[in-house]
Amino acid sequence: MRPAKKRPPKRFSVIITAGPTREKIDPVRFISNYSTGTFGYELAKEANLRGYKVTLISGPSGLKAPSGIRFIKVESALDMRRAVLKELKSADCLIMAAAVSDWRPRVSARRKIKRDSGKRALELVENPDILAEAGQKKGKRILVGFALETEDLEKNALRKLREKNLDMIVANRLKAKNAAFGDKTVKVSIIDRFSNAARIYRRSKGELAEIILDRVERFKI
Ligand code: C5P
Repeated sequence: MRPAKKRPPKRFSVIITAGPTREKIDPVRFISNYSTGTFGYELAKEANLRGYKVTLISGPSGLKAPSGIRFIKVESALDMRRAVLKELKSADCLIMAAAVSDWRPRVSARRKIKRDSGKRALELVENPDILAEAGQKKGKRILVGFALETEDLEKNALRKLREKNLDMIVANRLKAKNAAFGDKTVKVSIIDRFSNAARIYRRSKGELAEIILDRVERFKI
């Protein structure tokens, strides 16, 4: 009898989301935010270096997709939700670094809205919370969220960690203007589900990606 083929050990598989989402008003206009995608792309690069199986799901970003990973390009929050929930089935970990738009226009016009169509009000509806949905079907997966706050950073981040059923949340203080978006170095607090908080100062997003993945590895069983 032939000996059973030895299967290679299953690689730790991680989904990382990055960038903003775009919510269409009409074929040429959208609402979005200042996210550049840097954090998520740095995490994807670092995870790839560690030999993980990486799926990067990215909203529109000017950054180049790192080589050697699976790259899924999306536009809106609904697109991102669909991609994340599909990939989640076979993933060990989800890191939601994307700045998902909280709202989308209730209707997206099929044709370009004419300037002379008069005064307009834009009606927005809430987008689904992708991470909270993933939290509801967590199983043994490791879930990591990001929180951008202008006040009560750690308190709000801890609340989100609990509400979304996360293992870890990276809280980023939004300073003046849009400082956390596109900054070279950032100051964050990493809070875990045991309420441990670590404050990390002045690190590049590349360095932080290493720190975050070191902590994710502590949750691996
Ligand atoms: O509640 P808040 O939007 O501050 O939470 C931020 C975290 O939740 C981020 O990790 C972000 O990627 C995720 N999120 C999401 N779906 C949304 C809004 C935020 O997954 N609609």
